[in-house]
Amino acid sequence: MNDAGSAAPVGAVAAQAAARVAATIRDEIRATSSYATAKPSGMIELHANENPWPLPAALRAELAAAVAETAVNRYPEGAGDRVREALARALPLPEGAAVVLGNGSDELIQIVTSAIARPGATVLAPDPTFVMYRIYAMLAGVRYVPVPLRADFTLDEEALAAAIARERPALVWLATPNNPTGRALPLASIERILALAPGLVVVDEAYAEFAGTSLLPRALEFPNLVVMRTLSKIGLAGVRLGYAVGQPAWIAEFDKVRSPYNVNALTQAAVPVVLGAAEVLEAQVARIRAERSRLAAALAAMPGVRVTPSDANFLLVRVPDAGAAQARLHAAGILVKNLDGGHPLTSNCLRITVGTPSENDALIRALAST
Ligand code: PMP
Repeated sequence: MNDAGSAAPVGAVAAQAAARVAATIRDEIRATSSYATAKPSGMIELHANENPWPLPAALRAELAAAVAETAVNRYPEGAGDRVREALARALPLPEGAAVVLGNGSDELIQIVTSAIARPGATVLAPDPTFVMYRIYAMLAGVRYVPVPLRADFTLDEEALAAAIARERPALVWLATPNNPTGRALPLASIERILALAPGLVVVDEAYAEFAGTSLLPRALEFPNLVVMRTLSKIGLAGVRLGYAVGQPAWIAEFDKVRSPYNVNALTQAAVPVVLGAAEVLEAQVARIRAERSRLAAALAAMPGVRVTPSDANFLLVRVPDAGAAQARLHAAGILVKNLDGGHPLTSNCLRITVGTPSENDALIRALAST
């Protein structure tokens, strides 16, 4: 007898389960691998576009107190009212804009994609871009049409306009600054795309704080614009909070798609505390921006290395041999993201998050020796 009380040996049950999975789970899901989120300890982590600085001790103590007071035996407030009020205080939200929260902006991508997923609907995005747009389109059973960027990772606006005219997409994703390229889109291009797109355009501003430009204050100016943001890149990746801002008519529909308590009580307790100390995060962002310039200059001075101008907290760097460089960095205790093989435009490219000055120094030393 195994633990489940059946007579079949566990190995045989596992084989039967595999057969049932093959017969039951959708082919496209079985063909995909899960999003890699390994957390190796003791390494210098420059692979996930996080803020390398911890919160100061005083703020952590305030966070601990807020968390301690949270009634975790109760469900959280469903729509996260306290968080939304804190966001409204901390950000230049236009009067009358509606806000929906997500468990990270990843969840908002899933929510928006599910909401537009009529049979035959199309999602369109410049390419390469954030991989989750494609994955959630696949999960929702909608067609995903990537439109290649130019070789220098700028937007091919003519190609995008032609694709919009041809595909009539229900949804266009515009990540600005874009991941993995680090480049922000010109505002005039975004405005032209908003005018051409027949459905919704979500401007994903996950890295906006590092660019210094944002459409957030103008979120109500266009009938088909929703601006999406996250607290992940500015220092709260572990808290998991994303938000989308736009006309109440759009946001009300997304609110119906999200799970009832999608933002947990501990996150809801923590976010107002940290947003109340916005100057701490702003100072960290300023340090990261300064380090970005220093790191970019040091890497660009290395023979055979090309650095794409970045408006984000990471650099896209082409090296002579990305696999060898990644292996050398790994041996030196440094994690970066190798984009080689992921997309033709990013062959031999590494995506390197800007770290602390000493982390960046370690990276520069290790890369210089490759
Ligand atoms: N959008 C972009 C462009 C990103 O790069 C990321 C993170 N990799 C996200 C959204 C998702 O971030 P989160 O779920 O942490 O808010």
